[in-house]
Amino acid sequence: MRAQLLTAIGRPLAAGDVAAPRAGPGQVLIRVHACAVCRTDLHVVDGELPEPKLPLIPGHEIVGTIVERGAEADRFNIGDRVGVPWLGWTCGVCEYCRGGRENLCDQARFTGYQIDGGYAELTVADQRFCFAIDRRYGDVEAAPLLCAGLIGYRALRLAGDGERIGLYGFGAAAHILAQLANYQGRRVFAFTRPGDAAAQDFARGLGAVWAGGSDEMPPEQLDAALIFAPVGALVPAALAATRKGGTVVCGGIHMSDIPAFPYRLLWEERVIRSVANLTRRDAEEFLALAPKAGIRTTTRTYPLAEANRALADLRTGTLEGAAVLMP
Ligand SMILES: [Zn+2]
Ligand SMILES: [Zn+2]
Repeated sequence: MRAQLLTAIGRPLAAGDVAAPRAGPGQVLIRVHACAVCRTDLHVVDGELPEPKLPLIPGHEIVGTIVERGAEADRFNIGDRVGVPWLGWTCGVCEYCRGGRENLCDQARFTGYQIDGGYAELTVADQRFCFAIDRRYGDVEAAPLLCAGLIGYRALRLAGDGERIGLYGFGAAAHILAQLANYQGRRVFAFTRPGDAAAQDFARGLGAVWAGGSDEMPPEQLDAALIFAPVGALVPAALAATRKGGTVVCGGIHMSDIPAFPYRLLWEERVIRSVANLTRRDAEEFLALAPKAGIRTTTRTYPLAEANRALADLRTGTLEGAAVLMP
């Protein structure tokens, strides 16, 4: 099958023709129809996440149909359409798994990092970590829901019930979350790279009540701020924009160092926290909620062979919404 392979850290992906995988016990073989490109894929390629499988097929926002079932894989039928997210396997027995926090599992394995992912014509996944996709979504449109959407959903949930939500970095995750926050009756304040009028227009078009540069203060103090850009300097900026008792959630897996900042920005019970990975419960809740909330995704498609161009466009910030690869 055709695949895009990371063979060494920091190198462009290489087109490869590799043996088709087979479904092992409890696994399904999936024909990939669409795989969205996540910022985490850039962090893997750049070596900002330690020790990826090498060679690796990246990609963890996969939509496809099941073409083969391994032994004891009876959760889905051949021909069913499923989505495969970042969380690919958990141990089920550690303290975190038993406590409903499998996102923090000590042994967790992740799609497109330690397990080959969706930058390929076929992929194999543990059936317990596959999810049905609502028929109201096309394959391409559904793909960004699987990470941008559902890790964003977890980040928004951890931000609390506040009404005024700041979104720093208006990319794939924020463009989905703005719609969800509106549906929940919240008000969205969108922060983009300073001077990025196109991204600010995009945010207003998705219901943001205010959009400006990340160097600006919003017109009202925020109840919570979610940071999706991998820029540590946004943490003190977001704290400064957040009211007493508010929460700043860092939604990315990697961020540049957070600069020193005066304690008064944190004082008055402000909270900084990160969000890591997802649980299967997050995925089930969000994938049921997305069609009810009328969430649509904005995508730019690329042939699988142009995965490097998709990654480059994500890196330079020229994308509106999410990049999606089509094998
Ligand atoms: Zn575990
Ligand atoms: Zn992701």
